[in-house]
Amino acid sequence: MPPTSQNTGDSLRHIRNFCIIAHIDHGKSTLADRFLEITAQVEKRKMHSQFLDMMDLEQEKGITIKMQPVQMAYRYHGEHYTLNLIDTPGHIDFNYEVSRSLAAVEGALLLVDATKGIQAQTISNLYLAMSEDLVIIPVVNKIDLPNAQTAMVRTQIATLLGVGEDEIMEVSAKDGTNVEAVLQRIIERIPAPQVDETITAPRALIFDSKFDAFKGVIAYVRVYNGTFSRDNPMVFMRSGLKSDILEVGFFSPELREKKELAAGEIGYVATGLKQIEGVKIGDTLTDFRDQILPDQVLAGYKEPQPMVFANIFPQSEGEERQSSDFNVLKDALAKLTLNDSSIFVEQTSSEALGRGFRCGFLGMLHLDIVVERLKREYQLEIVVTSPSVLYKILDRRTNTEELIYSPFEYDPNIAAYIQEPYVRLEIVTPKAYLGFVMKVLDGIRGIYQNTSYLDEDTLVIVYEAPLADIITDFYDKLKSASSGYASLSYDIIDWRTSDLVRLDILIAGELFESFSQIVPQQKAAARGRATLLKLKEFLPRQWFQITLQAAVGGKVVAREDIGALRKDVTGYLYGGDYSRKRKLLEKQKKGKKKMKSLGRVHIPSSVFLDILKK
Ligand code: GDP
Ligand code: MG
Repeated sequence: MPPTSQNTGDSLRHIRNFCIIAHIDHGKSTLADRFLEITAQVEKRKMHSQFLDMMDLEQEKGITIKMQPVQMAYRYHGEHYTLNLIDTPGHIDFNYEVSRSLAAVEGALLLVDATKGIQAQTISNLYLAMSEDLVIIPVVNKIDLPNAQTAMVRTQIATLLGVGEDEIMEVSAKDGTNVEAVLQRIIERIPAPQVDETITAPRALIFDSKFDAFKGVIAYVRVYNGTFSRDNPMVFMRSGLKSDILEVGFFSPELREKKELAAGEIGYVATGLKQIEGVKIGDTLTDFRDQILPDQVLAGYKEPQPMVFANIFPQSEGEERQSSDFNVLKDALAKLTLNDSSIFVEQTSSEALGRGFRCGFLGMLHLDIVVERLKREYQLEIVVTSPSVLYKILDRRTNTEELIYSPFEYDPNIAAYIQEPYVRLEIVTPKAYLGFVMKVLDGIRGIYQNTSYLDEDTLVIVYEAPLADIITDFYDKLKSASSGYASLSYDIIDWRTSDLVRLDILIAGELFESFSQIVPQQKAAARGRATLLKLKEFLPRQWFQITLQAAVGGKVVAREDIGALRKDVTGYLYGGDYSRKRKLLEKQKKGKKKMKSLGRVHIPSSVFLDILKK
């Protein structure tokens, strides 16, 4: 057996690995800032708030998108402790990343805003933490605020966790009250990492990764066994990818090189690899020469599946600009996927918007973030079409299941059935808003599951519903129906067969693929009408009447007409001489904004934008 250097029992005893779970905005980043100050991790002059939110976008929006780990040193009762904190993303789209970071630690702070109480994300993340058997330290934050309902929130948490109220700490992350006591409780309550001595080969869990221009793909790891150090060849167990270790180290939070990473520790392994495929969150890393056994691969590897799709086009006039902007967009997307392999990208084109990309995201926030980054980091003017979900059909010719990425691909004639993703929806709402919230829920194809009380005034409502009904404006409606109080979390549970049809839009008899949508059969006529009315509103009148039709399988389900322009310069031209009519139209158009000429009807690309834009 090759010699191994496991972390010695003594140094392990002084390590604490933990994370903070909280609903968005409850103060995770602010609490982390105080920890960094207390442990003097970041020099005062460099300190600014939300220090661990590394992306500009995060700093600006005040939300945490990507977890940024940090290692801190703290002296307690005369002993030196190493504390590794992982900041988890608090939003639904990133649940998978939350669960990976939870697997890398032994304990979690459960942070709840004293003015808001427990919200949907608090609960869903808490359940994830419990399923990883983490020690939970409950903390009420923002007790300094005049509208803090500290006592009530303590009762809520105590009930949810089934612990005494005196177990729940009260802090102000903003002014620092009681924050040091939290650090001490972490040391007292969260167990030191343990090492399974029966495994001798090195083993580490990848809980995140990022791309660095100099160091290539960097895997963020929690080491479970053995050590990892420079120049040794390693292998990613699931992907089979092999690579040399360029460098190992810890997070300060900047990368700090270190001789070796040992069992129990959290740190990074730089690979020098130029592409992120093959380095997947949740995979297990081991030494190429001294590998773990296949049954020792760490649990919980899941390929993130993009479920929400939208088209992205460069927004520019003129052929030349279009083409150069397209290349910039292509390049930008390639760079983004280096950092985030969960984005799906495929080239596409539209009748009026030219060449662009069909992109897949984990959810709506993920989509918003990518779009923001494209605009900001690459100075791109882009158009994003209204999102749709992924569908699955059974192709009756081959008897195989196929994924449908964009609505026009759905051909009901070859699909034996069509399925759509369903989610388990959990809504936390004050009782006072129940009626309004239920009204919003009535508007989706949801299936009621159950209701429970968090406390006298707070309800948790559980539904199952199609993802397609959640990604549009459901969240906004829920927020406005509850004056912002209700919160939502969802998890994709399964695929279900639904009665879905493809709704096509015809303008003057011509089918426009990019307007096609997949909709529930019963809603086809209503959706069709809504789209036609929108078209009618945006489409400029022409010199002749235009018929707009919405059709399902060739059968018209809605129809609208746009009347001809009054001052019709072609009015005197009766009958068939279309070419003369056309010449006059061309003349008329001179000096006007450039329009795309499509078949018989002139549709400015702005109309496509108005209809397709989300
Ligand atoms: P995160 O989304 O959980 O990371 O939350 P942040 O740490 O970004 O905090 C959200 C907002 O709450 C920010 O405006 C903070 O300044 C504020 N905040 C955080 N903790 C406290 C606190 O203890 N008291 C007060 N008054 N505000 C706080
Ligand atoms: Mg934050």
